[in-house]
Amino acid sequence: MTATGIELRGVRYAYRRSEVLRGVDARVEAGEVVALIGPNGSGKSTLLKCISGILRPREGSITIGGEPVRGQRQSRIARSLSYVAQTADAVYPLTVLESVLLGLRRASWRHDPADLARAEAVLRRLGMADLAQAPLTEISGGQQQKAAIARALVRQTPYLLLDEPTNHLDMKHKRDAIEILTACAREQGQGVLVVLHDINIAVQLADRIVLLRDGRVMADGPPQAVIDPPTLHAAYDVEVRVVEDQQAPFVAGYRFQQGGQA
Ligand code: ADP
Ligand code: MG
Repeated sequence: MTATGIELRGVRYAYRRSEVLRGVDARVEAGEVVALIGPNGSGKSTLLKCISGILRPREGSITIGGEPVRGQRQSRIARSLSYVAQTADAVYPLTVLESVLLGLRRASWRHDPADLARAEAVLRRLGMADLAQAPLTEISGGQQQKAAIARALVRQTPYLLLDEPTNHLDMKHKRDAIEILTACAREQGQGVLVVLHDINIAVQLADRIVLLRDGRVMADGPPQAVIDPPTLHAAYDVEVRVVEDQQAPFVAGYRFQQGGQA
């Protein structure tokens, strides 16, 4: 694992003519959790796809461990990072355990016992051991989401990119997901970039929050610095109340602007 992390400089991307990323600078170091937040359509998913080499920026550079993503084969990029897409991929009639083993991308269907042990350990970690033999088609949306997370974790890549991984999870499973992603960074030194809608989860999980709006980075810093009412108002156009408690600030409530009056 290199010390230089993922680095984006002046990244621009456009779907056909409309520019969605307008010069993004950002970085993710090994061992840190960075939360990417921002309104719908601000370019968060597009940014993750550019980093994972699915989309190719029109301008700017993205490097992983000092090496440009551009020009690398997908298989090479996949050795550096695991990407969990926003919408669960098509659900195949595999069991949960088989789908996790698929994350290891072995050439053969005959799994060696070490792979199996790794996959089972990840499922235990996610509290899904009892679902190992359940077909993916017969579990809930939240459980499918956790299976997708498991498929990324089993690979133990230097970096993890997750697009709204907690969306379908209830409070307890959200908390579990936070703990697991934090442990990936703290214990295994993985660099984690996670798109989140829930700002309070971002505050609890992240070392740093990057706030995107209209394809530009509006704020980038420790949670306390980004989570202030004027910044959030400018980004989301809603009034929020931020409450300080002993551990961390949290957004207590939203008040929607009506007719320009707060
Ligand atoms: P976010 O994840 O922050 O909600 P996205 O990166 O998904 O935002 O999308 C940013 C903008 O790009 C949106 O305006 C969206 O409509 C547009 N967009 C996303 N995907 C496509 C696509 N495949 N083709 C054309 N426009 C797209
Ligand atoms: Mg998105």
